[in-house]
Amino acid sequence: MTVAVPLSFGTRVRRREPLSRHTSWHVGGPAEVFFNPRDRADLSAFLRGLPDDVPIYWIGLGSNLLVRDGGLPGVVISTVGALDALARLSATSVRGEAGVACARIARQCIKWGLGPAEFFAGIPGTLGGALAMNAGAFGGETWRHVIEVETIDRHGTERVRSPSEYRVGYREVSAPAPEEWFLSATLSFEQRPGAHVDEVHKLLARRKETQPIGEWSCGSVFTNPPGDHAARLIEAAGLKGFRLGDASVSSKHANFIINHGTARAADLERLIEHVRSTVVRVHGVALHPEVRIVGVP
Ligand SMILES: Cc1cc2nc3c(=O)[nH]c(=O)nc-3n(C[C@H](O)[C@H](O)[C@H](O)COP(=O)(O)OP(=O)(O)OC[C@H]3O[C@@H](n4cnc5c(N)ncnc54)[C@H](O)[C@@H]3O)c2cc1C
Repeated sequence: MTVAVPLSFGTRVRRREPLSRHTSWHVGGPAEVFFNPRDRADLSAFLRGLPDDVPIYWIGLGSNLLVRDGGLPGVVISTVGALDALARLSATSVRGEAGVACARIARQCIKWGLGPAEFFAGIPGTLGGALAMNAGAFGGETWRHVIEVETIDRHGTERVRSPSEYRVGYREVSAPAPEEWFLSATLSFEQRPGAHVDEVHKLLARRKETQPIGEWSCGSVFTNPPGDHAARLIEAAGLKGFRLGDASVSSKHANFIINHGTARAADLERLIEHVRSTVVRVHGVALHPEVRIVGVP
């Protein structure tokens, strides 16, 4: 099946776009159609024109995604550089669109004297991805700050939803309806006059001592099981530094898997499975991937 798209969307539509260009692991086959909208109206018009049976997948900065080597059929919608407005709404609330980088939210909130938003600096993704994952760092978590979200569905219908409509857990969010994606969120913070960007730099420097920041990874591969740490279990199973081809378990933090340059998605997935099954054998604990694994092998 070839996805038909009107020519009026111009170069905002790319065919067979390698998703390795859009993921922090630098792997992933092509998106059949990759769409980077100009703005919300453009996005809405694009969605309304799609046949009902075309699969749709949304991507932010691809920092929590393992896209398989066969790529993604249908349409991939990229919010980066598109939905990127961030504004202060009141003394204690801000609204960000889905494509805003989390680090920008951290920096801007500090300028506005609002907090605690420093944790967003530790999440190398977009607000849309942080909402989908309930991303958290340094003790903070995205959904603790959500007042409301705006969503859009595959027919281009927009809705405003409150947090009570979502089931939110640790790195897990269940939406009230399938095929509805985040356009924006209104977030609440406290007034923190005097907050300084140095605080963020200190947190990031501390993290750099324990995590392989700067290497190609997706952050933590597995969620922590109740009462334990995935990294501890992986290290105790003797896997720290374990290498399969050009993919390895980080020797700095055992819950990170690194692509050293030429690993493919299949290599990373094989290593993930090796780590999972070894931890089951050694500790009797089944780890669950935090990273979203999608696409065709
Ligand atoms: C070095 C490193 C460190 C990391 N540290 C942390 C950390 O401390 N804490 C943490 O929680 N995570 C961490 N991560 C993981 C990752 O940054 C987060 O999960 C982040 O929220 C993903 O955002 P993204 O924009 O990259 O989403 P993507 O990876 O592009 O997508 C992730 C999921 O969100 C969905 N999605 C994206 N945008 C939307 C949207 N607008 N509407 C609906 N669904 C959407 C996608 O379909 C996909 O299922 C780290 C990653 C790296 C590489």
